[in-house]
Amino acid sequence: MKVLLARENGFCFGVKKAVELTLAAAESGKQVTNLGQVVHNPKISERLAARGVKVVKDVADVEHGIVVIRAHGIPPEMRAAIEAKGLECVDATCSLVLRAQRFTKQLADEGYRVIILGTPDHPEVIGLRGFAGDNYVIVESKEEWERLPKIRRAGVVSQSTQPPWTFSALVTHVTSIAQETKVFNTVCPVTVKRQDATTELAGESDVLIVVGGKNSANTRELANLARLQGRTAHHIELASELRSEWLVGVERLGLIGGCSTPMDTLLEVKERAEALSA
Ligand code: SF4
Repeated sequence: MKVLLARENGFCFGVKKAVELTLAAAESGKQVTNLGQVVHNPKISERLAARGVKVVKDVADVEHGIVVIRAHGIPPEMRAAIEAKGLECVDATCSLVLRAQRFTKQLADEGYRVIILGTPDHPEVIGLRGFAGDNYVIVESKEEWERLPKIRRAGVVSQSTQPPWTFSALVTHVTSIAQETKVFNTVCPVTVKRQDATTELAGESDVLIVVGGKNSANTRELANLARLQGRTAHHIELASELRSEWLVGVERLGLIGGCSTPMDTLLEVKERAEALSA
C-alpha cells in the first residue's frame, strides 16, 4: 500500500500564530488562560496544558495573569469584560477572522440585515454574531436559507471555513429575495486551497484518512468533501484511532490534515498506516 500525502498540509498561518503567541505568553512565567481551545486540536491542547496553560469558558473564571484570545475570535462584549477586569490580554484572533468581524460590523452599522453563513454554536460564528447588531440571522443549509422571508437590504458574510460553493449558492439565493444585497466574501483562501488539495487527493486515492480535531470545522469539511467525491473517508484525531480493517484491499491511501493538525501527528498516522499494511 502506498500512502499519499496531500500537497497542502500542516498549520495555516492563523493557527501557527495562535499557538506561537500562547507559547510565548507561557514563557513569561505568569498564569496563561485561553478562553476556549485556542485552536481545535487535542494534541495542541495537551502540549499547551503541559506548559501550564489553562482553558476556561468565561472571563469570570480568570482571576489574574494573561488571557489569550483564541484564533476564532470573541464577541466584543467578551473583550470588554477582559478590559473591565484589567487583565493582560494577547490577541491571537486570526487576521482573516478580524477582517470578517470588521465587515460584519460595517454591514450592521450601514443598516443591513446581516446573514451569516456558518454553524451557530461554532466560536467563530458566536464572535461574528456579536458584531452583527440586533438584525441578523445565521444559516447553515439550503433548507434554512430557503425559509428566509423577503429582505429589503441584506448583507452577507461567512464563517471562514465554509465551502466557497455553499457561500456562492447562498449569495445567489439572497439576491433573489432582497432588494439590495451587499456581500463580503470572508471564506478563508487557505481552507479553499486545502479543499482543492482534498479533491485532488480523492482523485488519486482509494480511501482517505482526514486527521484533525473532531470539533475542527475545516477538518470536518475536508472529510465531507472527500465523501462527496464518492470516496470512503475516515476522520480521526490521533494515529491510535487508525483501524487495520480500513486498509484491507487499499492500494493508495490518501492522507490530509486540517489547518490545525500538526505535521508530526500526520507523520505518526502515515507510519502507523504503513506498519498496519505491511
Ligand atoms: S483556517 Fe483561515 S481563517 Fe482560520 S485560522 Fe487558519 S488562516 Fe485563519
